[in-house]
Amino acid sequence: MLKIKEYVKAESLEEAYQLNQKKKSCILGGMLWLKMGSRTIQTAIDLSGLGLDKIEETEEAFSIGCMTTLRQLEKHEGLEKLTQGAIRQSVESIVGVQFRNLATVGGSIFGRFGFSDVLTCFLALDTYVELYHGGIIPLEEFAAAKKDRDILVRLIVKKTPVHCVYMSHRNTRTDFPVLTCAVSEDGRGVRAVVGARPGRAVCIRLEEDSLEGGLDGSLDAAAEGLAAQVTTGSNMRAGASYRSVLAKVLIRRGLCRLLEERGIS
Ligand SMILES: Cc1cc2nc3c(=O)[nH]c(=O)nc-3n(C[C@H](O)[C@H](O)[C@H](O)COP(=O)(O)OP(=O)(O)OC[C@H]3O[C@@H](n4cnc5c(N)ncnc54)[C@H](O)[C@@H]3O)c2cc1C
Repeated sequence: MLKIKEYVKAESLEEAYQLNQKKKSCILGGMLWLKMGSRTIQTAIDLSGLGLDKIEETEEAFSIGCMTTLRQLEKHEGLEKLTQGAIRQSVESIVGVQFRNLATVGGSIFGRFGFSDVLTCFLALDTYVELYHGGIIPLEEFAAAKKDRDILVRLIVKKTPVHCVYMSHRNTRTDFPVLTCAVSEDGRGVRAVVGARPGRAVCIRLEEDSLEGGLDGSLDAAAEGLAAQVTTGSNMRAGASYRSVLAKVLIRRGLCRLLEERGIS
């Protein structure tokens, strides 16, 4: 059971950050993951009074506050348009609507969960995290780093034009994924992100800068080359070799969809 000794509704990020430097303190997101564990939290820090539960749009980017829920992501028209539905698809198999009305972006990204659909999808976009102490860094750098006691203030998704496809494979509809995969192409090149390996999502880049002229080799060879760079493991949901086969299949489907969108087959 989770026990909380003291609850503080933070009045500023500085107050939240200072309180969180103590080992037994803990930032609260939607508490859906936290409540599954058994531990004693000395000071629980609630960020819900800081106006960080919104998605703000500027000409260059979407700024997603850490207390924004997964349901807000799912329903946001601007994100839907930028990602051709990929963000919506990445969250819609996560448990159910009531759950997604509570689970936060901050908890989902800061948790750096190996199984995360959310992390996988955002890694395929031009995404940055704003940390209270660490400043703005690329999501890829954040995802690979060790957990510390900083606060994730917001996610910043630049409006870099992108073609993006999101897929996951699940044994049953709303279970944790067996494998997650996002394939995208933007001005920075073509990338495949594979998560639930079962480790944390990793990002692999295709050697070709763009799919403009089709692929140099065959689609199979490209998918195989990318999938070969993904290390997989086994857990109760699937074995490593099955995941490796799935990685190739999902990456191939993703590349195929990107080529189709460009009218190249
Ligand atoms: C039963 C179940 C099934 C799930 N299935 C899936 C799934 O299929 N796919 C998927 O992608 N996810 C899944 N999740 C994860 C879920 O979507 C959320 O990512 C998770 O619950 C964390 O979000 P939260 O808001 O509940 O965070 P919390 O549980 O409140 O916090 C999680 C961690 O993040 C820290 N934290 C929270 N916010 C911040 C912040 N702003 N700054 C710094 N640290 C912070 C907390 O201290 C804690 O360590 C599942 C979770 C559960 C419980």
